[in-house]
Amino acid sequence: LAELLKVSRTTAINAYHQLERQKMVRTRIGSGTYIAELSSHSVPKADIPWHQLFSPHLQTPLSSIIKELVSTVVSSDSISLSAGMPDPALYPLDAFHDLFNLTIKNLDSTDFGHIPTEGYFPLRQELARYLNQKNIFSQPDDILVSTGSQQALYLLTKVLLAPGDYVIVESPTYLGAIQMFQSAGARILTLPAAGRFPLSLMEDYLIRYRPKLLYILPTFQNPNGRLIPLNERQEILSLASRHRLAIIEDDPYGELYYGEAPPPSLKALDHYGGVIYLSTFSKILFPGLRTGWIAAPAAVINRVALEKQYMDLHSNNISQWLLTNFLGHNLLESHLKLVRREYKKRRDSAARALRRHLETLISFSVPGGGFYLWCHLENRITSRQLLHEVTKENVSFVPGEAFYADPLGEKEFRLCFVTHREELLQEGVKRLAQALHALMKN
Ligand code: PMP
Repeated sequence: LAELLKVSRTTAINAYHQLERQKMVRTRIGSGTYIAELSSHSVPKADIPWHQLFSPHLQTPLSSIIKELVSTVVSSDSISLSAGMPDPALYPLDAFHDLFNLTIKNLDSTDFGHIPTEGYFPLRQELARYLNQKNIFSQPDDILVSTGSQQALYLLTKVLLAPGDYVIVESPTYLGAIQMFQSAGARILTLPAAGRFPLSLMEDYLIRYRPKLLYILPTFQNPNGRLIPLNERQEILSLASRHRLAIIEDDPYGELYYGEAPPPSLKALDHYGGVIYLSTFSKILFPGLRTGWIAAPAAVINRVALEKQYMDLHSNNISQWLLTNFLGHNLLESHLKLVRREYKKRRDSAARALRRHLETLISFSVPGGGFYLWCHLENRITSRQLLHEVTKENVSFVPGEAFYADPLGEKEFRLCFVTHREELLQEGVKRLAQALHALMKN
């Protein structure tokens, strides 16, 4: 520094000392001098009563459980069986690096400007081509690209639900959807998501409450892995069509099957134009792309696009270019083959470990696909007690209550079996068993 500023060494050292006294830099012996992080002294004290300024339409308290799940830093010793995260070691990074180099070279300045709110047109073309292979016959105009399917859920909630509206959901179901509907002031009607689909209960709800929509995950449900068979899908659609009920079908896991491919989606079977289909690249590729999509009748796409325009104009271009190329080069299928093979091994390995270590203490069924094992504690311990105990061993899972709109689920919990390789997964289950055995002794 002295040389650079053409001052004497002593002057430079004195300057550093002064900066240190003012807490603007910090010296670490043997390492160097660094600009200090802003200390709490430099943050102005809030003299504004922020809580009183928040909109009264905002329902409180809102749970921050998803925020906590996605911001948990996975340390080398911690085994996260909680967040629904694909294994980072399986991200197709080489393909994306190559595509990135290729795409960047071909881009010009207009590509860095705005694109239509509905999404980058070539991506919507690729998505239409992909959906057509799944018997979801669509044109690019029937598709809107969203910032993850979480945003799609938000936008649909915004355009469809008013406070007091009824929504039917499965019980348990995706916690992000429960929170979204609750925050819109909707009233939630629940259908048990176990065994045969409860058609007569749904009919009862339709007649008594005239709900606005059904939110459903027919394929490898989050959290319980359930798959609704073809005949029940057809029955759901014929009941819904008789009552002109709108359906949101959320399908992030349909491609992740470990045996037979699942039956066609509700959207593929839709004969009355009532199904809004959501999916995402978060589970089949990686969540940082923040790219999902809605396939729906044009009226819905147009209304959602207006709302999205207020929110973010459009989702980010880079992810959309990359995905267009990834799909255009037919790279998805080979990646899916790889992850299906690997996740099948992990599912079986986790199930084996649970049976070996926990035998009669828990029950679960092995799903045909998806990310999760949904476990039931067959003893006096609750999943929250177990979580508390096992966290000390750096293992995490999501307690069942999070997935219910009703006060249920205290004996259940969700384990995500895809994030870690087999050895770590086995170790996680072992620590879980030790924690449960320790609790049982008390
Ligand atoms: N729906 C379901 C059922 C999910 O499991 C998730 C992710 N946990 C999402 C929507 C949101 O996914 P993303 O916003 O990452 O696309």
